Amino acid sequence: MQKQTLAFQAEVAQLLKLVTHSLYSNPEIFLRELISNASDACDKLRFESLNDAGLYEGDAELKVRVSFDKAARTLTITDNGIGMSQQEAIEHLGTIAKSGTRDFMAKLSGDQKNDAQLIGQFGVGFYSGFIVADKITVESRRAGLPAAQGVRWVSDGTGEFEVGEIERAERGTSIILHLKDDATEYLNAWKLKGIINKYSDHISLPILMPKEEWKEGENDQPGEMVTTGEWETVNQAAALWTRSKKDITQEHYDEFYKQISYDSEAPLATTHNRVEGATEYTQLLFIPAKAPMDMFNRDKAAGVKLYVKRVFIMDDAQALMPTYLRFVKGVVDSADLPLNVSRELLQESRAVKAIREGNTRRVLSMIEDLAANDAGKFKTFYAEFGAVLKEGLGEDFANRERLAKLLRFASSTTDTTTVSLADYKARMKEGQDAIYYITADTLAAAKNSPQLEIFRKKGIEVLLMADRVDEWALNYLNEFDGTPLQSVAKGAVDLGKLQDEDEKKAAEEAQTQFKPILDKLKEVLKDKAKDVRATTRLVDSAACLVVQDGDMSTQLARLLKQAGQ
Ligand code: ADP
Ligand code: MG
Repeated sequence: MQKQTLAFQAEVAQLLKLVTHSLYSNPEIFLRELISNASDACDKLRFESLNDAGLYEGDAELKVRVSFDKAARTLTITDNGIGMSQQEAIEHLGTIAKSGTRDFMAKLSGDQKNDAQLIGQFGVGFYSGFIVADKITVESRRAGLPAAQGVRWVSDGTGEFEVGEIERAERGTSIILHLKDDATEYLNAWKLKGIINKYSDHISLPILMPKEEWKEGENDQPGEMVTTGEWETVNQAAALWTRSKKDITQEHYDEFYKQISYDSEAPLATTHNRVEGATEYTQLLFIPAKAPMDMFNRDKAAGVKLYVKRVFIMDDAQALMPTYLRFVKGVVDSADLPLNVSRELLQESRAVKAIREGNTRRVLSMIEDLAANDAGKFKTFYAEFGAVLKEGLGEDFANRERLAKLLRFASSTTDTTTVSLADYKARMKEGQDAIYYITADTLAAAKNSPQLEIFRKKGIEVLLMADRVDEWALNYLNEFDGTPLQSVAKGAVDLGKLQDEDEKKAAEEAQTQFKPILDKLKEVLKDKAKDVRATTRLVDSAACLVVQDGDMSTQLARLLKQAGQ
């Protein structure tokens, strides 16, 4: 056999060192990672077989087998999925191809304790095998390649790995872990079944283990468990979302969520439904408890996976969820789409449109439910995702009213971001006929704006807004429940019935009285200001800038300038 020794990509070497040397708090997740890779490999085979059924090589019963050899101290995970060619083994196991892992690497601090926690959060896939093994042998053959083109990949998890060609009749991959001295506990069927049950029950493939039987000891020897030579399925082997809700615990959902989202925390909310009607589908959707770092990137991949009749079709199916709900994770499985559906086709499909609308409604009711029944969770939700939700005002006209009800703001009379538009309306002064708001860079700037003086004097509440998206989003919300929204920074704010006759007269008088000065100021500022007016809106400050009604606000103008417009 021809062998070559290759060095890991520098980042992998660094990662491996970290994995092996950090006190890993949850070592058993290695099995979850390896089983999930086996399951991915079977998904890939199923998918490629749609165009080339020959890849099954007469064996379409995809499965994962987990077995161990006490004497040799090895634990082996075998799948009959897509397998790897020699080149693929070199690339996929020797370099970091996954962008998530690269992001992870970028966050490493060098501090072992923090970094170990990070690993726990991300899961480092294949390399987690080195938590329990001091050597890993991978044997594989890619579906469709001849038996002579199998590959063996061996590494002790330090700087290098070895690859060579082997003869391998079975398609797919075996991961053979040579267990460390302190990992003997994994040479135990009961222990392994427990881990599989905890982390991999929802995997839709059967996971098999050698069947064991109790054998009484002879001649006073103690009895022991012995293998019978048969295999038994040790998981439920049904994709979680296809199972009946009553058979699924929240722990199962949480575990499934963690696996698809790479999140270490449980989700904030979960919804699981079979939707019947013109378009039939199953939705299993989660709201995370924490926003990802790149949430404001609107091109960011969405988090919903698409399955058609339980066959995995694609990650990040953007067409299944509006952009402003891109933080939602989950799975949609529909029988009404063709298996060979492409991203382009998805955009045009009527079934997909129905699914997207259904998903949107469902997510909004999840949020409404939090708002109504769980103030603590709703607060977390709003702090993490409130700003993204506001994008929906401009994006989703059909649900604008529902969205508006979910918004919360700070105001000139409260210190927390908890005021709903309905709360505000309920507190409006008699005679007040608009919902007043002000936008600024920060809440403090909004709160201290001279434009609020008159409102404060009259005891009128003003909503304070400082999210980047507010200005833009509020353009799409002209009114709430019949009451117009009005920026206090625009034009001559008409306080309507709230302004008493005396004030109106005083304003008119001031206009005449100060005419000479105003004319002079207008002359001096003629390139800088459109108009200079005397006003009653200020109480303590001498002057303030306002924009003309219908013009861009100063805040929006600044934003656009920042964006280079
Ligand atoms: P991820 O699964 O997130 O891509 P991993 O580190 O778990 O990252 O695996 C790296 C890559 O190695 C996989 O993307 C896949 O290409 C390859 N791989 C790992 N395990 C298997 C397997 N059992 N069968 C085929 N390919 C595999
Ligand atoms: Mg993986």
